[in-house]
Amino acid sequence: MAAPEAFTQTADITHWIAGQPQRGGGTRSQTVWNPTTGAAARQVLLASADDVNAAVAAAKAAQPAWGDTPPIRRARVMNNFLALMNQHRDTLAAMITAEHGKVFTDAQGEVMRGIDIVEFACGVPQLLKGDFTDQVSTAIDNWTLRQPLGVVAGVTPFNFPCMVPCWMFPVAIACGNAFILKPSERDPSASIFMAQLMKQAGLPDGIFSVVQGDKLAVDTLLTHPDVMALSFVGSTPIAQTIYETGARHGKRVQALGGAKNHMVVMPDADIEQAVDALIGAGYGSAGERCMAISVAVLVGDVADQIVPKLAERARALKIKNGMELDAEMGPIVTREALERIEGYIAIGAAEGATLVVDGRGHRVAGFENGFFTGGTLFDHVTPSMRIYKEEIFGPVLVCVRVPDFAAALQLVNDHEFGNGVALFTSDGGVAREFSRRVQVGMVGINVPIPVPMAWHGFGGWKKSLFGDMHAYGEEGVRFYTKQKSVMQRWPASIAKGAEFAMPTAK
Ligand code: NAD
Repeated sequence: MAAPEAFTQTADITHWIAGQPQRGGGTRSQTVWNPTTGAAARQVLLASADDVNAAVAAAKAAQPAWGDTPPIRRARVMNNFLALMNQHRDTLAAMITAEHGKVFTDAQGEVMRGIDIVEFACGVPQLLKGDFTDQVSTAIDNWTLRQPLGVVAGVTPFNFPCMVPCWMFPVAIACGNAFILKPSERDPSASIFMAQLMKQAGLPDGIFSVVQGDKLAVDTLLTHPDVMALSFVGSTPIAQTIYETGARHGKRVQALGGAKNHMVVMPDADIEQAVDALIGAGYGSAGERCMAISVAVLVGDVADQIVPKLAERARALKIKNGMELDAEMGPIVTREALERIEGYIAIGAAEGATLVVDGRGHRVAGFENGFFTGGTLFDHVTPSMRIYKEEIFGPVLVCVRVPDFAAALQLVNDHEFGNGVALFTSDGGVAREFSRRVQVGMVGINVPIPVPMAWHGFGGWKKSLFGDMHAYGEEGVRFYTKQKSVMQRWPASIAKGAEFAMPTAK
């Protein structure tokens, strides 16, 4: 593959309201960093409440006609958008690498997983097909259909600036809603680029808007009477607040939170495969994935075989500018996040865990001011330690040793998060038992990062998800629509006279 072209734009990042880039009336802005160089790259404008209100008003005005547009015509717009996303895949990936820091090949994977959901949304006529019962009573039929909610909103995290918005807006819009996205202020360029592509695809103005911003913009959406539903993905404390506040304001809310994903390695697992999986899932995207593996649960005597191999591989990670095609790990998103991660490493060492590989202070030649840290590995971590309990969200893998399968299962089930989990084994019976008993929403058997495909839906359990429905897939269609039941008979068949008893089938 030829070297990809870097994303180097410096203009301010605006909102996208009523089908146009808009600066709005807000006076605040925030720096977007280039994490590789450590330099300020550009400014993102932060919306005022009036800016958000303007986006909602434009969405509300445009939505009824879009909601009335036949699903097949909405799907055609989504098909055009799909073609444009495919055409501009690498532009989007370079944008992500420039602002997030993840390596280009990983960013390409993120874009592809976003495109999967757009493809799913192209099937919306089939997804919205209702149920019909002929003759629920003599000459009476009953059917159910699903209708859009109206104006809906999404608030997304920094770690997947293309894929996570794609979990939301293609499905919401294909279902006939108008969608307002409030992306992460740390890497906002992908969102506005996708809004431009949606317009190019033929989407009417006002149906997809982007308001750049922070808590003020989120709070305005969350309390706005014309916003019917809000999807959130981010850290757990904010997810919980969003869920509670949204519910208090009568909104439908799905709020996906943080994670601490375990990978259990049984003594009968293929050791080389398990090491590859732990290295890729622990340090890929510098651990800044909600499905990253951050805890290796090593059963029986497997730790003595695995830990030395993990240490060797963690020390040899190719950490560099993510635009280099052989890079395995790029920088951390911001200096603040880097300091939080390296702070956790100090905490772990002070708590008494064995610091096998210390990634702190890693420098990359030519990028001395970049937000880089190395891969860190801890052994002999116990469940009472903060580095076990809390989400670090960085390239820090902690190993917990347990005597047997029952202890491994108990450990996973006792953790407050329940996003993803993996089990590596060659025993089908153990695998079956694990996948049935584990209290986690997404399970991988010999698959370290089991992010469900577009038509299956994504969601964790426990403190990893507040709300009833998972993101995308059929759950997404249900989230963005409300069911209506119609019961019908025609005058010629209506019996004479009022009925006072509860109607039953006749
Ligand atoms: P974050 O919670 O800091 O921010 C998420 C979004 O909320 C951003 O758009 C941000 O602007 C907004 N926000 C921040 N503070 C707010 C406040 N006080 N009130 C209202 N809105 C606020 O998360 P992040 O650092 O961008 O992303 C990393 C987190 O997201 C991790 O915890 C990770 O596990 C989680 N995540 C979860 C999933 C999942 O599917 N469960 C997926 C991706 C990321």
